[in-house]
Amino acid sequence: MKHLIRLFFLFAALTVISCKTQSKIIVNTKIVRDTIYVSDINPKYQVITEASLPKYVISKKNFPSAAYNNRIKFLVFHYTVADYPRSVKILAKNGVVSSHYLITDQPNDTIDILVSEDKRAWHAGISSWNGTENLNDTSVGIEIVNKGYTYVGDSMVFEPFFDYQIEKAAVLSKNIIDRYEIEPVNVVGHSDIAPFRKQDPGPMFPWEELYTKYNIGAWYDVVDKQCFLDEYIPDIYPYNSALEFQKALQKYGYKISLTDIWDKETWLIIRAFQWHFRPEKADGIADAETWAILQALNKKYRSKTPF
Ligand SMILES: [Zn+2]
Repeated sequence: MKHLIRLFFLFAALTVISCKTQSKIIVNTKIVRDTIYVSDINPKYQVITEASLPKYVISKKNFPSAAYNNRIKFLVFHYTVADYPRSVKILAKNGVVSSHYLITDQPNDTIDILVSEDKRAWHAGISSWNGTENLNDTSVGIEIVNKGYTYVGDSMVFEPFFDYQIEKAAVLSKNIIDRYEIEPVNVVGHSDIAPFRKQDPGPMFPWEELYTKYNIGAWYDVVDKQCFLDEYIPDIYPYNSALEFQKALQKYGYKISLTDIWDKETWLIIRAFQWHFRPEKADGIADAETWAILQALNKKYRSKTPF
């Protein structure tokens, strides 16, 4: 009888241990949008890619090393300047340009993946942001089907995006930003990183809505903007100096030559900045409000960056 009692307790103890083991595995597993990610380090969105060899075992006994960070640092938005079939032809078939994701112009369409996130897609071209060149190496690119702009007289008239495109872009972006821990200032438009060549995603892209509704990307605090605006005195405040404006744009991330001249390059970069942060007035002209917004952004996101 004593034997039976001992056996019962042993069995009970083993059951508890095995339950504990199982619960540990469950803790380290996360289901994100129908995909199960298993992690030994961080239960949040960790995907491990490793070699699989016929003759040797890949050991995880020293995994993970403390010395690592994400290769992806930037998220770049684009529009395709084409309808969906032509966009697919350009981005998936021609072998010249591509992106990681493509969002169509139909509400019930799936989001296309064109290039795996661990591969380099060719979407940014010659580009620069905050001292990093050639952003194809370090970014994920999202293309949205949209015709871009047409000229009406001298004015560029941009085609609006559909709400469902923005919603898809937001959910997808949030997922990417969380997984790679992309900084808000590093969520950019193609025109931010290549302002002399590119106009996308243009002033119809709702950066403010993405920030306020989904916490995606950077946006200024209205109080700060007003504060800088209140300080403005025409002909005295430093934005009247091209050099001061160029330095502030450089501080935020734009690649700009410090010429102290209101040259064409400065005009194109100010226009790109306005498309992103002041779309209702994107004429490339430096004015008090543009200056106040730029100052507010630098205060919020770049206060640790030396001038
Ligand atoms: Zn683009």
